[in-house]
Amino acid sequence: MAAQTTFTCMRCGFSVEAWDDGNPFVEAPDGKKHYFYHPGGDYKAVITGILGHVPSAKDLRMMQKHSGNDSDCICLGCGERGRRDSRKDESPCGRCGSVKVVDTNRLAGHPCPSCKEGRFDPGRMTAIS
Ligand SMILES: [Zn+2]
Ligand SMILES: [Zn+2]
Repeated sequence: MAAQTTFTCMRCGFSVEAWDDGNPFVEAPDGKKHYFYHPGGDYKAVITGILGHVPSAKDLRMMQKHSGNDSDCICLGCGERGRRDSRKDESPCGRCGSVKVVDTNRLAGHPCPSCKEGRFDPGRMTAIS
């Protein structure tokens, strides 16, 4: 189950929705990421698709090392939304080069990228799936 939190700028009303479970994925041998949305549920099906056959226990262990979780993030410099690999260090925004790229789940109190003057509220839960 995932919860959605909406953070809203207390000055201009700009809002950002964040899901708390991120974007789990496995990386294929060719480096392509395959996202799956129900950890444990369709994990095996995704790997079967990558390998072209039903994975053995060994295959599963091998693929586990290539799994990760991308979090949704937003650039506080320009408002660009993106995803960040949780296994990697912080990387600057691909659009404006700002290093102020934050996980959308941790927006509370950060400055608003839209009006640049307000700050985000503590967030409120807006949906559950
Ligand atoms: Zn940016
Ligand atoms: Zn604002």
